[in-house]
Amino acid sequence: MGIKSKVLIIGGTGYIGKRLVKASLQQGHETYVLQRPEIGVDIEKIEMLFSFKMQGAHLVIGSFDDHRSLVEALKKVDVVICAVSGVHIRSHQILLQLKLVDAIKEAGNIKRFLPSEFGTDPARMADAIEPGRVTFDDKMVVRKAIEDAGIPFTYVSANCFAGYMVGGLCQPGYILPSRESVTLFGDGNKKSIFVDEDDIAAYTIKTIDDPRTLNKTLYLRPPANILSQREVVELWENLIGKQLHKTSLSEQEFLNIMKEQDYAEQVGLTHYYHIYYHGCLANFEIGKDAEEASILYPEIKYIKVEDYLKRYL
Ligand code: NDP
Repeated sequence: MGIKSKVLIIGGTGYIGKRLVKASLQQGHETYVLQRPEIGVDIEKIEMLFSFKMQGAHLVIGSFDDHRSLVEALKKVDVVICAVSGVHIRSHQILLQLKLVDAIKEAGNIKRFLPSEFGTDPARMADAIEPGRVTFDDKMVVRKAIEDAGIPFTYVSANCFAGYMVGGLCQPGYILPSRESVTLFGDGNKKSIFVDEDDIAAYTIKTIDDPRTLNKTLYLRPPANILSQREVVELWENLIGKQLHKTSLSEQEFLNIMKEQDYAEQVGLTHYYHIYYHGCLANFEIGKDAEEASILYPEIKYIKVEDYLKRYL
């Protein structure tokens, strides 16, 4: 066993957060999970928190509205992973994370902070379109606060969560694959990157005490999962033994449809736009100040998209 850390996971009952708790325990870290008083009588969350406790995690009470409680929680650990949500709600996630940065600064003992990123690298999205660019801009504000405060960090660029993207054959509004038809973004040939959510958590936990990823971005690019939408569809067609009827949506048609949606929908669709029309996840080489997860941690046997798709048969 290598060095083990004390890890605090914030947002531990969330979609990616619960997997981070599981991976942290599995990899043998002393795992703490923030228990917010604001969850009140949300029985599902309470049950989940207590199931973490039964598996060996420590629950630590703290609120974003109580700076002292955050500082006290942070003092128990060396590593903090934030997995709060906020994809569509302007200033929600950013405010929470800026409060957290203030608390980390005051606590003064944190050896690594992983903010709530887990998607497209915001540093590469300076030219993203409105209104979806807000999510990238907000994440950059948090990054600046972290770096200005001199807090040691790792940014995890997880690319596409498989559950959201693979199941629906990359189509917005779908999380299950059709056996009849699919709409392709343009020619459907821009490469994207898909990662199983448990694998995202496993890679994330691997990195927390790895000196090679200190103050760097960790990109999750499992090689077999760098695929175009068309390739994902072909894998599904091979599994079901049938060709889907395909239609294509041009870039301009997509933008026109997007403009008719409400703000939150537009923010979400902006991500699809940059991923599937511009290939923003895979159209660059990983440069300096960055590492690639499957190269650093070959021991993680990641789930390939073709195997992931088998759950839908
Ligand atoms: P969730 O929507 O599941 O929420 C995560 C947790 O945030 C909640 O369980 C809760 O944790 C905490 N939270 C929510 N609201 C508040 C609040 N007002 N105050 C304090 N805490 C709050 O988040 P996801 O797991 O979907 O998203 C986590 C990250 O992953 C985000 O940065 C997001 O951008 C990214 N993401 C990436 C995707 C991709 O395809 N790459 C897809 C989806 C998300 P608790 O109650 O336990 O405290």
